[in-house]
Amino acid sequence: MLQIPCPYCGTRDEAEFHFGGEAHITRPGPEVSDEEWSDYLFNRENPKGTHFERWCHNFGCGQWFNVARDTVTHEIDAVYRMGERKPTPENVLTENKRRLA
Ligand SMILES: [Zn+2]
Repeated sequence: MLQIPCPYCGTRDEAEFHFGGEAHITRPGPEVSDEEWSDYLFNRENPKGTHFERWCHNFGCGQWFNVARDTVTHEIDAVYRMGERKPTPENVLTENKRRLA
């Protein structure tokens, strides 16, 4: 079971959270083609390595936040609140140290 560090409450068991899918997806405007709209609706990244995800602390504070998780090791590399800057691959470990310290 994952131990997820909520940026508002601290580290809790995964059972308290709800997975919200890939983070940082922008809804396209009405002028896009059917292919672009379909891509927005159905296609998601499936990387081997760092994946940016949304999680909600359902059985805690109820807040949504973002997690950078390694899909191979399930280690959480960074946790940041909605609206905060997405960590770059170079500073994921730095963000991890700052949040988990
Ligand atoms: Zn929380």
